Amino acid sequence: MSGLNGPVAGVLGWPVTHSRSPLVHGHWLRRYGLRGAYVALPTRPESLETAFRGLQALGFVGGNVTIPHKEAALALADAATPRARRIGAANMLLVRDGGIEADNSDGFGFIENLRAAAPGWRADAGPALVLGAGGAARAVVASLLDAGCGELRLVNRTRARAEALAEALGGPIRVLDWGEAAAAAGGAATLVNCTSLGMAGAAPFDLPLDDAAPGALATDIVYAPLRTPFIVAAERRGLATVDGLGMLLHQARPGFAAWFGAEPEVDEALRAAALAA
Ligand code: NAP
Repeated sequence: MSGLNGPVAGVLGWPVTHSRSPLVHGHWLRRYGLRGAYVALPTRPESLETAFRGLQALGFVGGNVTIPHKEAALALADAATPRARRIGAANMLLVRDGGIEADNSDGFGFIENLRAAAPGWRADAGPALVLGAGGAARAVVASLLDAGCGELRLVNRTRARAEALAEALGGPIRVLDWGEAAAAAGGAATLVNCTSLGMAGAAPFDLPLDDAAPGALATDIVYAPLRTPFIVAAERRGLATVDGLGMLLHQARPGFAAWFGAEPEVDEALRAAALAA
C-alpha cells in the first residue's frame, strides 16, 4: 500500500535517525494493509516551531516528538491532554481543525508493556521503587500512581531533581537518597530502572538488588542492550523481569490508532523487526 492519498504522520527529533517509530508504524501500515505513511522529520531545535506549524500546513495528521523536543512541543501545542500536562512533555501530536493537540503515551506504553509481558502484575500489589528522575521517569511515576500504586520510593543521583518531580506530581511519593537505593528495594513489589545506567555507551548499572523481595517484578526502560545489567542483576536475584523494548512499542499504539484508524497489536514479529533495526 502506498502513502499516496492516505494519512501522513512523522516524527520530529534531532537527531532522529535512531528513532524506531518509522519502522514501527511502517510495520503496522503494511500488516493491516492501510494507506498512509510515517516519515522521519529531522528537526533542529531552532527549527522546531516552524516544523511544528508545518505539520498542519502540509496536511499531516500528527506525529511523534522525541529528544530533544518533548517539553518544547508541549509548550507550542494549541491544546494538551491532562496526562501530557501532568508529565510536562509531549511525545505525540494530533492535528485537529482547531490546531495541534499534544499528548503523552509514554506512561501508557510503560503500563501496557507490564500488563502484556507479566500478566497478573498490578501497580497496587505493593510499593514501587523507581530509580531516576529524568523525563522518562516522570511519565513512569505518573502512570504508576494513576494505576493505583500506593507507595512510590523515588531515588535519583541528583536528589533535588527527584524532589522536584515528587512536588510536581504529588501523591504517595517518598524521595530517598541515591545511597539508600539498595535498601529501598527491600519489600518493593515493582522495581523500575528509569536512569540511563546500563544503556549502551552510558555508565554501568551496579546497584546490588540483594534486598529485593522474591516475587517482585523488575523492569528496565532502557532497551539497548535488551538484557541490561539491571535485568541481569534482577534475574540473578530470581525476580521476574520485563525488558524495555515493549514500552517503546506499546507507546506507539495510541498514535497509530488516532492517525491511521486501526488498533494495532504488539506481537513477536514487531519485536523482532525492532530488535533487528
Ligand atoms: P534523562 O532525562 O537524561 O534522565 C537520565 C536519568 O539517568 C536521570 O535520572 C539521571 O540522574 C540518571 N543518570 C544518568 N547517569 C547517571 C549515573 N552515572 N549515575 C546515576 N544516575 C544517572 O533521560 P530520560 O529521557 O529520562 O531517559 C532515560 C533512559 O530511558 C534512557 O536510556 C532512554 O533511552 C530510556 N527511555 C526508554 C523509553 C522506552 O520506551 N523504553 C522511553 C524513554 C526513555 P541525574 O538526574 O542525577 O542526572
